[in-house]
Amino acid sequence: MKFAIIGDPVDHSLSPQMHEAGFKAVGLDAVYQRIPVKNSEIGQGVRYLLDNRYDGWNVTYPLKEAIIPLLDRVTPEALDIGAVNTVKRVDGYLLGHNTDGEGFVQSLITKGFEFSGKKAVILGAGGAAKAIAMTLAKKGLDILILNRNVEKARWLAGQVSGCGGKASWGCLGIGDWLQKADLLIQTTPVGMKGEEYLFGLRGISPSTWVVDIIYHPAVTAFLGDAAKNGCQTMNGLDMLLYQGVLAWEFWLNRDAPVSFMQRALTEGLRSSDECDCANE
Ligand code: NAP
Repeated sequence: MKFAIIGDPVDHSLSPQMHEAGFKAVGLDAVYQRIPVKNSEIGQGVRYLLDNRYDGWNVTYPLKEAIIPLLDRVTPEALDIGAVNTVKRVDGYLLGHNTDGEGFVQSLITKGFEFSGKKAVILGAGGAAKAIAMTLAKKGLDILILNRNVEKARWLAGQVSGCGGKASWGCLGIGDWLQKADLLIQTTPVGMKGEEYLFGLRGISPSTWVVDIIYHPAVTAFLGDAAKNGCQTMNGLDMLLYQGVLAWEFWLNRDAPVSFMQRALTEGLRSSDECDCANE
């Protein structure tokens, strides 16, 4: 079988190691390749995958929305999020799905987070925030979205409300929301280059769970600040793992060998520490 990741750039993606470890663990003869595809080349990219009989592929930046018109069907999850990160060929047609939001939720479930009646604050309103906001709202959380471009926060809160969720919005910055959040999720790229965060977390309740979806570095300044304030913290590596696990299961209709995929991801990240690794 043949699988791939398409996007631009894909050269530092850890998905090949993760998925191939999963294939090997169950004795499946399959490959997973990185195929660079620019936004302007997406039509040719999909044609290449079809002509070369790829069974499925992941879609990353900047193609997650642009791919939708090229698919025959999308799942309700992908439709609500408005983006696709996983595609499979089923009986000659192309089915798109999104595992980013569920991957995020799964990463919290494995750490024992209880979702019922909780309030989540999401910093950022880009692609990742959209998947996370939609999925958390479906689990019944009350969502506050804060973004530098406040219009985008307003738009995303509207999308969440339009799907039956509870959401409000505001400008990215410190506020009394800090004492009220049960779950605080950092989804901007600020911290990827080792820089300080935009504001400090002094006054945050130690009962707040704090997630930074960046995984390289493993501990951003934001996450370090949360830990210093006594909060339970998590970086984005498990989100990456579980979006991959769910994609693997979507393609192959069987349980994924999670521990093998997790080990491959950790090892891949360790060796990429020697080079300039990008977050997906
Ligand atoms: P995106 O669609 O480009 O959105 C970026 C968001 O960050 C926007 O809301 C943007 O605000 C905000 N932002 C960017 N620079 C900022 C700054 N200097 N100050 C304040 N806000 C800033 O990106 P994305 O795809 O959502 O990815 C965001 C991050 O998540 C990246 O670091 C990516 O590597 C990581 N990620 C991790 C995973 C995982 O599996 N762990 C998955 C996906 C993404 P404006 O709207 O105001 O521009």
